[in-house]
Amino acid sequence: MLLPFDEALAAVLRECRPLPAETIDLDAAEGRVLAQDVRADRLLPPFDRAAMDGFALRSADAAAPGAVLRVAFEARAGEWPERRVGPGEAARIMTGAPVPEGADAVQPVERTRETGDGRVEIATAVAAGAHVAPRGSEAAEGSVLLESGRRLDAAALAVLASCGTVRPRVGRRPRVVVLVTGDEIVPASTARPGPAQIRNSNGPAIAALARSAGAEVVVGGAVADDRAALDRAIGDALSRADVLVLSGGVSAGKYDLVEPALAAAGAEFLFTGVAMKPGAPLVFARRGEALVFGLPGNPVSTQVSFELFVRPCLLRLQGARAVHAPRVPVVLGAALANASGRLSHVPAVVAVEDGRLVARPVRTQGSGDLAAHARANALVVLAANRLRAEAGETVAAVLFGRFLEDESAPSPR
Ligand code: AMP
Ligand code: MG
Repeated sequence: MLLPFDEALAAVLRECRPLPAETIDLDAAEGRVLAQDVRADRLLPPFDRAAMDGFALRSADAAAPGAVLRVAFEARAGEWPERRVGPGEAARIMTGAPVPEGADAVQPVERTRETGDGRVEIATAVAAGAHVAPRGSEAAEGSVLLESGRRLDAAALAVLASCGTVRPRVGRRPRVVVLVTGDEIVPASTARPGPAQIRNSNGPAIAALARSAGAEVVVGGAVADDRAALDRAIGDALSRADVLVLSGGVSAGKYDLVEPALAAAGAEFLFTGVAMKPGAPLVFARRGEALVFGLPGNPVSTQVSFELFVRPCLLRLQGARAVHAPRVPVVLGAALANASGRLSHVPAVVAVEDGRLVARPVRTQGSGDLAAHARANALVVLAANRLRAEAGETVAAVLFGRFLEDESAPSPR
């Protein structure tokens, strides 16, 4: 039975109990998921901070353009001001320096003119608070800056660093064991595959996808379509894996033996098929604490079903709150048919054209066409009942997190 896509995804996420947390170095934290809230350990900013290079002054002294003030002293970043700014005075101030007491505004240097006799003319009127980031205006001490479940990107790492959290607690990386199956599959390094042999391309693809989702990956070899060999490989993998990802051997062929081998290993199946194209034969199971995905072997099916199901699972196991790739409205650049009668994910190139996101389906021979898939940066989503969408129509697309080209992109070399 084919489970509806949404139910299948919900079933996967339901099974994902976050792995235990561990403490790591900030330097190694990129891509990891916070298992703690991060709080400000002091006010942010910690002092009234000058936002421009210029002159700190009392706004009451510069309520009208053309005020002339005496430059009394200098306020540098990293130094506490040596004194206060009195009436009729200004302090030369640098961006990032504490605004001296007495002053309540900073006039940017571009809007001043030094008279040469130790005084400065303030060319325009200055409002109270201008170009000053007040102490505590960004965060109160103890306030939560990042919540548990946030995946650490550069912006989040900057926040950790700013409050001295150099040993963050993060969810443990899931250990993913990758097994590819198929009598025809030979290592990618095979110089001359036999006439009926196929190089293993799913192994490297799954490993790369899993790593990009934060997993620690163990790549098992290719396993023949042979019950004894599969039983051994699956048993060994399950003893080491938080998540076992298999490719191939889950369709209806006589030698598709992954399901019976998993059943014999004691796996409990959550589903054995999803109403979607590509990727319908997708299998999801649990054996003890280990989760198991049996991905269909067709390279496009493998990668699409990974993106839609395995990536959210790996992120959630690390405790991530946000696990869904962005789905955005795009304008179809060409008509698209969906003959499958199932929810369909069509590889496409989304690019910026005249300021709009336009999706052009890649020319493909089907789910085996891994070269076509490599040209895509998105999946156009067509509902089961949408048999055809015309050029110019707006449809949803899942972006894989790659960058988008615009008209200025250089032509390929
Ligand atoms: P299966 O899911 O085992 O029926 O395989 C479906 C298709 O995917 C077949 O054409 C296989 O040769 C191909 N395939 C399976 N595993 C791999 C792999 N590891 N690398 C490349 N192609 C594969
Ligand atoms: Mg096979």
